[in-house]
Amino acid sequence: MRCSLCNSCLDSHTHLFFNCNYAERIWSALKRKIFATDLPLNWEDLVNAMATRFKNRNIRSVVSKIVFGAGVYYIWQERKKRHFTSEKRPAEDLLETILESVKTRLMSIRVINSPHVNNVAKEWDIKFHNVHSSKTMLNTVQ
Ligand SMILES: [Zn+2]
Repeated sequence: MRCSLCNSCLDSHTHLFFNCNYAERIWSALKRKIFATDLPLNWEDLVNAMATRFKNRNIRSVVSKIVFGAGVYYIWQERKKRHFTSEKRPAEDLLETILESVKTRLMSIRVINSPHVNNVAKEWDIKFHNVHSSKTMLNTVQ
């Protein structure tokens, strides 16, 4: 069975997220976007690396988790779609969709006004809609 994204290799879960040519282009762009180009791309190592590196509830960790969640979701969705329709989105288009969805998601999270938060806003060219000045708020990211 061939992968519906890159049409070249065996279709498996590991392949889809970590060995697929199509998915790989998206993952490398996403890793650059979160300054984590050294993150491994095999499932076990990645899960371990994510768990240790992004365990704190700071803005960088939250952004990274959102980015990976969106990557997994959209790549999976594209693959599924190709099984049922003839539509094929190029990797660049899918990447654009993923980045837009991350921006939308980011704008809605509760953040504390801090230099880190401001840097992330600049990098992603967004404005946070839910900014607080106090650390006593629950579920607030700084
Ligand atoms: Zn593939």
